[in-house]
Amino acid sequence: MNRKRVVIAGGVAGGATCAARLRRLDESADILVLDRGPYVSFANCGLPYYVGNVIQDECKLLLASPELFRDRFNIEVRTKHEVVAIDRREHTVTVRDLETGTESEEHYDALVLSPGAVPIRPAWPGTGLPGIFTLRSVPDSREIRNWIETRNPRSAVVVGGGFIGLEMAENLRHRGIAVTVVELAKQVMPPLDAEMAEYARQHLEAHGVNLVLGEAVVGFERRFNGGLVVRTQSGTAFETELVVLSIGVRPETQLARDAGLAMGERGGIRVDDQMRTSDPSIWAIGDAVEVKHWVTGQWELIPLAGPANRQGRVAADAICGRDTIFRGVQGTAVCGFFGLTVALTGATEKSLSRNGWRDYAAVYLHPSHHVSYYPGAKVIHLKLLFRKSDGLVLGAQGVGEQGVARRIDVIAQSIQMKATVFDLEEAELCYAPQYGGAKDPVNFAGMIASNVVRGDMELAPWSGLDATSATLLDVREPHEFRAGSIEGAINIPLGELRARSGELPRSKEIWVNCQVGQRAYYACRILAQHGFRVRNLSGGYNTYRVLYPEGVPQPAGSQVR
Ligand code: FAD
Repeated sequence: MNRKRVVIAGGVAGGATCAARLRRLDESADILVLDRGPYVSFANCGLPYYVGNVIQDECKLLLASPELFRDRFNIEVRTKHEVVAIDRREHTVTVRDLETGTESEEHYDALVLSPGAVPIRPAWPGTGLPGIFTLRSVPDSREIRNWIETRNPRSAVVVGGGFIGLEMAENLRHRGIAVTVVELAKQVMPPLDAEMAEYARQHLEAHGVNLVLGEAVVGFERRFNGGLVVRTQSGTAFETELVVLSIGVRPETQLARDAGLAMGERGGIRVDDQMRTSDPSIWAIGDAVEVKHWVTGQWELIPLAGPANRQGRVAADAICGRDTIFRGVQGTAVCGFFGLTVALTGATEKSLSRNGWRDYAAVYLHPSHHVSYYPGAKVIHLKLLFRKSDGLVLGAQGVGEQGVARRIDVIAQSIQMKATVFDLEEAELCYAPQYGGAKDPVNFAGMIASNVVRGDMELAPWSGLDATSATLLDVREPHEFRAGSIEGAINIPLGELRARSGELPRSKEIWVNCQVGQRAYYACRILAQHGFRVRNLSGGYNTYRVLYPEGVPQPAGSQVR
């Protein structure tokens, strides 16, 4: 019998999953996994915690060994073996043994490319100096650990304030190192909408991380004492003893390009919905491929472990003749630092407006992660994006100390099921006092958004606050109003609103706020039924504070009535 020979280049997230799935589907296949690194199936996502000594034993990062693949799955794994060329006509790959330098040819019936991505190391002066690191592999993390343990640095600069950069910031602080994060964007976590990232900024600063936002690093120098200087475009110089570059990754595509496989416009390998490349005998998965965004339909590079694993399964299914389809990626991601969780799924407002969407709205809410009467309740800041015309859920972002990932996961699955805000409103979720509320934050998000879609409540655009001629009405209690209010707002507490509605103009729109949005909604319903034109400033004063951090002190001219 002719055994099908499957060669897999890259044996970590996507490649290892693909190999194991192939074996489960086809006991007779001849499977060879090649990885140029010293390990297969290691936990990239755990690397920052190994640097921080939260994970103390390097072995814990190694999820499966070549021996385990051999004994359990009858799969041959060769580490320190790099695939250097593909001969598509002959169905062979050239493999270099990185220890001996010898090369050999391997035949394939099916070839799977899972080479991942490489950290971007720009050609700035001094980028190659000792003490400047990127983090992608176990040896990378070992090098940073060794540097910390032998040099005992007191300060570090992390270039890039994205997910890995902030995880590194936390772990370096955990080692007692003072950390400065320099980020080109004016916010941390650039994939997030700016106002949601603001909570993360505040939290990082409260935990002693020095954030330098809107600054471009332009180069590095070495000091005579062995230290480093990080120079930025504005002329600032940061003296430090350790630099971590975490400014993103680019897909590892050289092999595929050299073989003439089709590439996408974002620079990743182009694949069909079964992860097949432009060559029907070659599949590509993981960080190296472009994916269709589940919500926007755009081709994107979204380097995440979950999609790489799912794609590995899809490719294995396709190689074995199954018709499994990869649905696309919706960018569900989570990151934690200093006890704060930041998570997102689906489209952001940024990505919708970049893609020219108009038919969408956003609601903000700040519920407790469980009922407020049970000790330990923590606020979750949530932003839900939905299609205004029919309520289709488009995306969500959440920030808070507890219960964030659970809510974003529920919404993530809703997005994949093409659910609407009415489905979120009706979602039946776990409830006991220490876990949630009888109306869960997800239900609340659905209810608020449903009010908008049904036309029961109009949203006021936060972006229009500066220029609006609307009357701004704050319906909180006077002591809350005095503690800080929206510039120019008047204060009529909700309990007095019916009696005092005569003080409000009928000729102008009234934009209503409270602390988080709920009392403003009640106020909107009262006023709308009395013939006023009203809109709710979604998320209330809590949202205002992150959108307009400079506007927090009570401005002159606002009045308590
Ligand atoms: P990889 O897992 O990177 O595997 C690629 C392998 O291919 C590498 O071992 C490489 O050496 C090998 N290779 C490359 N070229 C060749 C060749 N020509 N021949 C042989 N071998 C080759 N994602 C999340 O979803 N959540 C997280 O919390 C998270 N945290 C992360 C933290 C860090 C520090 C890093 C680096 C990544 C993190 N990721 C996270 C991203 C996630 O790890 C990747 O999306 C995922 O590993 C991609 O899988 P892959 O198979 O495409 O590539």
